[in-house]
Amino acid sequence: MKVAIVNNPKTQSLAVKEKILELFLERGILLDQDQPDIVISIGGDGTLLHAFHAYQDQLDRVRFIGLHTGHLGFYTDWKDNQVAELVDAISRDQGEHVSYPLLEVRLVHSDGLSSRRLALNESAIRRYEGTMTCEVYIRDELFEVFRGDGLCVSTPTGSTGLNKSLGGAVVHPRLQTLQLTEIASLNNRVFRTLSSSMLIAPDEWIVLRPGDGEISGVYLFVDQYSAPLEEVKQIEFRIAEERIHFARYRHLHFWNRVKTSFIG
Ligand code: NAP
Ligand code: MN
Repeated sequence: MKVAIVNNPKTQSLAVKEKILELFLERGILLDQDQPDIVISIGGDGTLLHAFHAYQDQLDRVRFIGLHTGHLGFYTDWKDNQVAELVDAISRDQGEHVSYPLLEVRLVHSDGLSSRRLALNESAIRRYEGTMTCEVYIRDELFEVFRGDGLCVSTPTGSTGLNKSLGGAVVHPRLQTLQLTEIASLNNRVFRTLSSSMLIAPDEWIVLRPGDGEISGVYLFVDQYSAPLEEVKQIEFRIAEERIHFARYRHLHFWNRVKTSFIG
């Protein structure tokens, strides 16, 4: 059993890390930041997103564990006062895991070349100065012409993030689906959009094709990362073949987590 640790710089997270390292030494659990079996993220959901992207090339063998230093997060099953219990569970590990869908984002450039990104929460395109126009295709069929601030495609586990703030539904992570939500759509006689969010089927995909010459000032967001969208003909969103695995030693009811986080 080899474990890597990813933490945010908060004092509380550093203290938890020290405690874990101490317990690992006692139990003979090895640290390996390069080729771990388990990645422990100490911090918030944002820290887990960092950990995911740091190990996204090893998703087939890595399992993640989220330890929260703060309020209970969505990707974090353990709290900072449960470190001993967690190390105990790791030392008795039997490979227990749950896996959740990821979003594949494919950028098709004007020269025909394409590049690929993976998102755990969501990917969005967004313009801050003026509105953007973009054709929305489901599979290869034109569905609508969007004009507004942007569009967001989220995974089930990302549905409680940006998607929720945009009015999207909270989706149980056992469902194989992606959700498309609008960011401030304009609706008038020329531009008409569905206006509600959409959940697509597992074998469907979404294609966004920004209008010619409309790309300047448009940003692409993939989880916590963003960059100006340049020279892109279209962006395709589908459920990735890869999934994220979490080492899960005890069951936490999804709707309980939603209730604790949003209702109290
Ligand atoms: P951040 O600005 O610190 O994140 C905003 C909040 O979203 C934080 O409270 C974060 O929790 C929480 N969060 C992240 N993923 C979540 C999930 N799957 N379910 C419920 N809450 C979640 O930025 P960040 O920590 O780097 O996280 C990036 C994510 O923030 C993006 O992927 C997006 O989902 C979300 N976001 C939301 C808005 C919005 O709601 N208006 C705007 C931008 C980004 P922690 O405090 O535990 O990190
Ligand atoms: Mn954060």
